[in-house]
Amino acid sequence: MTSTKLEPCIPLDMEKEKLTDLVEKAKDYALMHGICMRRKDQFDRDALHFAPFVLFPTSFPRNEFDKSVKLQQVLNELMHKVAHDDEFLTTSLRNTIKVDHFTKRLFDIYERVKKEGGPTQALSLGMLRSDLMLDNHCCTDYGCKKAGKSYCCWKQVELNTIASGFGWLGPASGLLHRYVVQEAGYPQHLKNIPENNALAGLAGALISAWRLYNQPKSVILFLVEDVTYNVCDQKFHEFEIRRQCPEVFVIRRTLTEIGNRGKLTADKRLIIDGQEVAVIYMRCGYHPDQYPTELEWDARYMMEISLAIKSPSIHYHLAGTKKVQQELAKEGILEKFLGDKAHTDSVRDIFTGLYSLDNDTTGDKNLENAMNNPEKYVLKPQREGGGNNVYGEDIKPFLENIKNSDERCAYILMDRISPPIIKNYMVRPGMEPMLADCISELGIFGYVIGTKDEILENKQVGHMLRTKLSHVNEGGVAAGLGALDSVYLVDTDRCC
Ligand code: ADP
Ligand code: MG
Repeated sequence: MTSTKLEPCIPLDMEKEKLTDLVEKAKDYALMHGICMRRKDQFDRDALHFAPFVLFPTSFPRNEFDKSVKLQQVLNELMHKVAHDDEFLTTSLRNTIKVDHFTKRLFDIYERVKKEGGPTQALSLGMLRSDLMLDNHCCTDYGCKKAGKSYCCWKQVELNTIASGFGWLGPASGLLHRYVVQEAGYPQHLKNIPENNALAGLAGALISAWRLYNQPKSVILFLVEDVTYNVCDQKFHEFEIRRQCPEVFVIRRTLTEIGNRGKLTADKRLIIDGQEVAVIYMRCGYHPDQYPTELEWDARYMMEISLAIKSPSIHYHLAGTKKVQQELAKEGILEKFLGDKAHTDSVRDIFTGLYSLDNDTTGDKNLENAMNNPEKYVLKPQREGGGNNVYGEDIKPFLENIKNSDERCAYILMDRISPPIIKNYMVRPGMEPMLADCISELGIFGYVIGTKDEILENKQVGHMLRTKLSHVNEGGVAAGLGALDSVYLVDTDRCC
């Protein structure tokens, strides 16, 4: 992989003493401002350590950043329409649900709700995060004419419709970096770290939904894991709700607790521990392990059929699957949903090649291409939360195993994006800071509230940046492989 003229925003060859001092200051800032997580190695309910971060903000082309921010409302509208298109969801997932048990269970809830007369609550709240990476494949693959510039385009990795995290840690990383660049003696850099109001925007979305539900005594329920490691990110949403709206209370419950203690009234209001639930914000429920028994599935169904406004409703959850992402990239589909040519072109521009592995001639051809050039692809199952994809040389034996069975319909293939590499110091708890080659992934947050026929609110609200070592396939921060980062805007052009 060659790269890039995107340079670090601060020279990295600083004296050891100065670096150590800066790192200590940054760690203290993180610890004392809730830029933290629970420890996975030695669990202690009462202790946090700082979340991994890179020391300096990462250079990112200003025009691409502006474009991704502007595009978010179009993506919000697209996903809202996709989520409400029964025929598209059903056709897209038809083969997948024959072999992917988890997606089938979600789909069964969707069907059951439909059979019972459709959702009790017509409103949905989509809290979305579109993940993007810059790509420089033209420089590497096709001998770009202006090679040596920076990047050729930017591409969507995925669009999250459930548990889109980092609404706090995203903006908080910008605050940390504002402090660090000043301590490093570069106050002139502040103007290039953009404002980031993701937390206020996402908390505002939950409050808007609560107001639409219109029951003064009702609460907002955060659906949470048994143990929440990314706890600051969630709790700061609660604090922000409290700051913006003194009237509403947030409660936190697990699927198991809802299964055991949740009830529906005759008019399908969801009651837990004597409190009526207006809005459900799911930070859990996207992975099979989170449904250990039928009780948790019953809880998911009960929430779905209830009058509470869900983020996400089951149809929004299904619209965020990798299979739907791949079907959306097929010719003519974006046009169908968006109509407007400028909008369609701008979304198409960020799609990479996405390929079906269904048992047909197209699927066979795609499978063969992946077997012949595995380094060019990422193989993805219908899962969220990181650590599920197959990369590079692992793709061949994996496909060899499933190529003659229907199991292959559970996967999609995607062109591998090759982002520019920028050096930075990675700072992790209990480890020396490490100067490393890094690549980054930008997430843009948006939310949309509406019914099948009408969108009431559609906003872009902020962003987050995650950075990982360039040779690592996946960089989940909570998984310990990635690091928090923020955007440093620079004026640079595409190479071609
Ligand atoms: P998940 O839903 O588990 O987060 P993603 O599709 O976001 O799945 O993939 C997880 C990670 O894998 C991404 O954050 C990114 O680092 C890497 N990744 C995913 N797709 C690609 C791709 N097409 N090219 C390069 N890296 C990718
Ligand atoms: Mg992801």
